[in-house]
Amino acid sequence: MRYAMVIDTRLCVGCMNCVVACKTENQVPDGFCRDWIAETLQGKYPHVRLEIRSERCNHCDNPPCVHACPTGASHRREGGFVAVAKGKCIGCKACMAACPYDARFVHPEGYVSKCTFCQHRVAEGQNPACVSVCPTHCMFFGDLDDPASEVNRLLATRAHHALLPMAGTRPHVFYLS
Ligand code: SF4
Ligand code: SF4
Ligand code: SF4
Repeated sequence: MRYAMVIDTRLCVGCMNCVVACKTENQVPDGFCRDWIAETLQGKYPHVRLEIRSERCNHCDNPPCVHACPTGASHRREGGFVAVAKGKCIGCKACMAACPYDARFVHPEGYVSKCTFCQHRVAEGQNPACVSVCPTHCMFFGDLDDPASEVNRLLATRAHHALLPMAGTRPHVFYLS
């Protein structure tokens, strides 16, 4: 299993339902978010378009946050989930400095937190909360190791990109463009 998220930027309208769903599902404290909306201009004038992206931790295959963590709190799990064991986290922020996506924050209780790919829901056969509420159905979640999965079908048939490929992190969130 290698879980991934595929997001169709041509369907995302930036409504932030994914952000609200994540905060509710995961009891994200006030003032913090595990996911957010980014907007960038793509193309060259006069052929430009606004790309709207729902962003979060990329659950990287080669995660610098994990490599930087001195206690083993940040780790990769079966399925490719990058997780934080809060009991092992000393709040040193080395992982935050190492992440090129600014995907982590310090929880008010003193440990570092971020998107979990809703591992608790996936374990029960459900989609992540953000994916399940999207009104335009622009988000997909599935297994890259399953050749028949929807995420593989989309990646095989649509142009796509991941964020900051030059960082060498091998992200597991892909954007259809
Ligand atoms: Fe780590 Fe950042 Fe990659 Fe998430 S996006 S796995 S926090 S380096
Ligand atoms: Fe590891 Fe926590 Fe330090 Fe991050 S803040 S590097 S998870 S001990
Ligand atoms: Fe939040 Fe779960 Fe979506 Fe990650 S996968 S952004 S934790 S709702």
